[in-house]
Amino acid sequence: MIFRQLIDPDTKTLTYVIGDPWSRQAVVIDPVRELIARDLQVIDELGLKLHYAIDTHVHADHITGAGGLRARTGCKVVSAAAAVDTADLKVSDGDAIQFGLQVLEVRATPGHTGSCVSFLSATSPKVFTGDALFIRGCGRTDFQEGDARTLYRSIRDKLFSLPDDTQVYPGHDYKGRTVSTVREERLYNPRLGGGRTEDQFVAIMDALDLAYPGKMPVAVPANLESGCTAEDCATTPPSAAGDAWPMYRTPNGAPNVPAIWVADLGQAVRVVDVRTTEEWTGPDGRIEHAESVPMNRLVDAAEGWSVTDRVVLVCRSGGRSDRAAKELESRGFKAVASLTGGMLQWRALGLPLYSGDQG
Ligand code: FE
Repeated sequence: MIFRQLIDPDTKTLTYVIGDPWSRQAVVIDPVRELIARDLQVIDELGLKLHYAIDTHVHADHITGAGGLRARTGCKVVSAAAAVDTADLKVSDGDAIQFGLQVLEVRATPGHTGSCVSFLSATSPKVFTGDALFIRGCGRTDFQEGDARTLYRSIRDKLFSLPDDTQVYPGHDYKGRTVSTVREERLYNPRLGGGRTEDQFVAIMDALDLAYPGKMPVAVPANLESGCTAEDCATTPPSAAGDAWPMYRTPNGAPNVPAIWVADLGQAVRVVDVRTTEEWTGPDGRIEHAESVPMNRLVDAAEGWSVTDRVVLVCRSGGRSDRAAKELESRGFKAVASLTGGMLQWRALGLPLYSGDQG
């Protein structure tokens, strides 16, 4: 899993970028409207493509960046709140969000608001708890259908029941902390850890005397529309994912595209297999619409192609195709890239293989 934790210094909101290293698909959890450019830069520099912008709940203290990210990337907005009509995908307890080989399982954890959800990773021991469970604290329960008894049961049943070493990544931290574990919170959370009862928790929450967030009158109505202003929503999203050219560079500077996009694009790109003829007809199989141009014939063959064509180069594991892509780039090709991980990754992802015998 590719993972970045980001903080809004103003509202202490923690935003998470989570990427799948194989497909390069990514999600962002709890983006902040003012920090969309920061998040997009992180996503871009990591060579990721944003598929989902996820809100754990309808925030009262800041405006979500989800709608703005959708306008700029074409990603889908995910929410569990019935009132958010602008969400593309509504989730509830037990649902799963999949991006590449990553899965986030949805756990309903209401109590801070009526529709708060947490997200549990299936591939890494991490849970994203939004404003249900904080590090040594929890979300307030005094507005937006908040209810202390509901929150106590959510945390006890849906979060404290997770394995001890599950890492807890909350929606805010006001003291500069970044991560905790289920074990620590179960033992040391001063509000509901250490065996505190539901009644003790309710008494603690009732005694809190918190001012309402200054941005609340603006933030809640804006968040019911995914933070999407008329201006944002007037922006035309980029063309469908299948038309995009999701090129990123590896550390050695080779232009790459993820296998999953090549599979999606089908015959819209020229797929050139630079392996030897023995490999081309061998047991590793090949991509059905690929053409065979072994490395030693590539430069000659490319003379006949347009430099504006999209060309995806593929080999066994990505080494030769990386070199081939750089070579064609140096010869003026504008949209050339190596298939990340080559045929080995293509197979590992379960993408369709062709193993006919014609050369
Ligand atoms: Fe909140």
